[in-house]
Amino acid sequence: MATRASIDVDDLNRALDVRDLAGRLQLLAERFPGRAAFSTSLGQEDQVITDVIWRLDLPIRIFTLDTGRLFDETYALIDATEEKYGKRMDVYFPDTGEVEALVSRKGMHSFRNSVPDRKECCDIRKVHPLRRALRDVDVWITGLRREQSANRQTMQVVEWDEGYQLFKSNPLIDWTAGQMLEHLATHGVPDNPLHRRGFISIGCAPCTRAIAPGEDPRAGRWWWETSKKECGLHR
Ligand code: SF4
Repeated sequence: MATRASIDVDDLNRALDVRDLAGRLQLLAERFPGRAAFSTSLGQEDQVITDVIWRLDLPIRIFTLDTGRLFDETYALIDATEEKYGKRMDVYFPDTGEVEALVSRKGMHSFRNSVPDRKECCDIRKVHPLRRALRDVDVWITGLRREQSANRQTMQVVEWDEGYQLFKSNPLIDWTAGQMLEHLATHGVPDNPLHRRGFISIGCAPCTRAIAPGEDPRAGRWWWETSKKECGLHR
């Protein structure tokens, strides 16, 4: 088995670059046996990756983060996806004590007060559970695509993530939105009905709004802020 120290990120990128999505995921599962995990937020990109992992029965663990503030449609999509493939994803919740302390100090909607307050909520409800989910993981697989935002332009198929001290792989990084939609249609993959109501990037219900045609795909996330639209999961 390859160890982290023996894996050169440039070599791995070259090997992954020439493969299709299934080939990329297969190679990651082979290079990191038992230590590859995919985090899904149930977006359309993530549904493509879930489809390939579960349809091909690849040995990659799938998990999601339930912040406690998701849309009902997102919870229904977890059910629909699990039912289609006859499998279950792991669901990670925030630490009860941390959420209780935050809400009793600052109320239910502290994330609207300021960027630091919003980041505090994201840290408690997303980042801390993510850190738990990534324990014992050597490669963290995500559904990021370059097209999604300006700060994803330089991302590679695989990178070393200093913050989490593991490899982070983005096997859809060079996919277009058209390719993604075609894959979903071809394989009958369920997605979130909110996408048909103008919600493109879907996160927590109080922090996501629909966008107008032509708006930046991530403009609907924390729309009251002017800073870059990342939640701290992807730095
Ligand atoms: Fe909190 Fe909003 Fe971040 Fe969800 S997206 S964790 S509700 S600040």
